[in-house]
Amino acid sequence: MSSFARVLRPALRRGHGVAARVSSTAPRCCRPSQTFNAQQLRPLSATPRRLTDISEIPPTPITHLSETEASMKEMVSKFANDVILPKVRHMDEAEKMDPDLVEQLFEQGLMGIEIPEEFGGAGMNFTAAIVGIEELARVDPSVSVMVDVHNTLVNTAILKWGSTDLKRRFLPALATKTVGSFCLSEPVSGSDAFALATKATETADGYRISGSKMWITNSMEADFFIVFATVDPSKGHRGITAFIVEKDAKGFSIAKKEKKLGIKASSTCAINFDDVEIPKENLLGEVGQGYKYAIGLLNEGRIGIAAQMTGLALGAWENAVKYVWNDRKQFGKLVGEFQGMQHQIAQSYTEIAAARALVYNAARKKEAGEDFVQDAAMAKLFSSQVAGRVSGLAIEWMGGMGFVREGPAEKYWRDSKIGAIYEGTSNIQLNTIAKMLQKEYTA
Ligand SMILES: Cc1cc2nc3c(=O)[nH]c(=O)nc-3n(C[C@H](O)[C@H](O)[C@H](O)COP(=O)(O)OP(=O)(O)OC[C@H]3O[C@@H](n4cnc5c(N)ncnc54)[C@H](O)[C@@H]3O)c2cc1C
Repeated sequence: MSSFARVLRPALRRGHGVAARVSSTAPRCCRPSQTFNAQQLRPLSATPRRLTDISEIPPTPITHLSETEASMKEMVSKFANDVILPKVRHMDEAEKMDPDLVEQLFEQGLMGIEIPEEFGGAGMNFTAAIVGIEELARVDPSVSVMVDVHNTLVNTAILKWGSTDLKRRFLPALATKTVGSFCLSEPVSGSDAFALATKATETADGYRISGSKMWITNSMEADFFIVFATVDPSKGHRGITAFIVEKDAKGFSIAKKEKKLGIKASSTCAINFDDVEIPKENLLGEVGQGYKYAIGLLNEGRIGIAAQMTGLALGAWENAVKYVWNDRKQFGKLVGEFQGMQHQIAQSYTEIAAARALVYNAARKKEAGEDFVQDAAMAKLFSSQVAGRVSGLAIEWMGGMGFVREGPAEKYWRDSKIGAIYEGTSNIQLNTIAKMLQKEYTA
């Protein structure tokens, strides 16, 4: 059992449900007819359908954590500061994740957070994963995205749609030693993900996969790849199917490792599949359902990216305020004491707190089985904006010391840029939010 699981399991058993944190609102169908203005007064966290009756439970602040989640936060924070922090600059310069660190992530149980204990995982909840991702990003967003993709996209895919055989074959390894990748994007298909061209042809024993994937996170470290391919291009998105490909499969190759602006220690590669043969057991879920799986996974994954961006923003903010409130004096006083600085610092912290509230609310709604798609999109959109804004300002607060590579300020800013791009660009999040709002507010 992982060290996290050992410590946290008793707290889990005592039970700290999330339902209490969800505010209560009458279902839309039951409300009296009202004017458009009256509808606008609905709380932002309102959900038309609620699965459990929580009317007797007093609502609690959205950022309150259960004992398990609080322990996760504390332990990941310590691990990040003690173990990851000393490696951050070197890994960024070398553009490589330290393999010892990857091993330690497994040892700590951080690569199997939601995998049940029977498969060697920590058996925790989604919010625990979100809190862990946030804490890692506070120190290194590259490590954070490795853990995020592995947990929220790869492990979740197997947990949700893997057959009993697939779960037995792969979950123990994914929890303890095998890094996973999620392969959807291609040279021809980014935002329009379901225009993908990678082809899967049925054979006597299984499937033959041919095509190329692009921008694949974790691909240098991974041995396990969830690959989306079409079994019939004439069916459009209804031909898209999910498969499991292992790295040692003949015809699998890493084509190119990208050199990036930020999150440099996180590997991002193009991958070729040259007639890769896989057994029929490696079909994930049902033929033609891959697009639904990808949409569902990315909706959840976006909350992870939002947590990554929130953690990054806080890390950048903390690094800068330590300097301006303790070290740097000009005109005879600490530069953080000038009102012009204090207002920016206070504004930035407020934005981080707002981003975190969106992230936790989306996570709680997902756990409560409610519709969280718009919440996840808003959390990702806003937190990536806040991360860019705050990490940029933090450099300015530190003057020249923020601009040099001696400290992490410039790295946080470089790393922040990716938040508006992967798992759906900011425009795509805005499209989702607008579409859902329009549906709700159209008579
Ligand atoms: C570092 C990194 C890691 C990644 N990791 C993974 C991974 O592990 N797995 C994976 O499958 N993919 C991964 N991706 C791919 C990522 O999800 C895509 O880059 C992203 O979805 C955008 O696609 P694109 O780069 O092709 O941009 P495009 O789709 O070409 O977009 C270019 C611009 O057009 C805008 N645009 C496009 N369509 C619309 C629209 N309908 N309305 C308004 N604006 C629009 C976009 O917002 C953007 O500003 C990663 C990317 C990067 C950079």
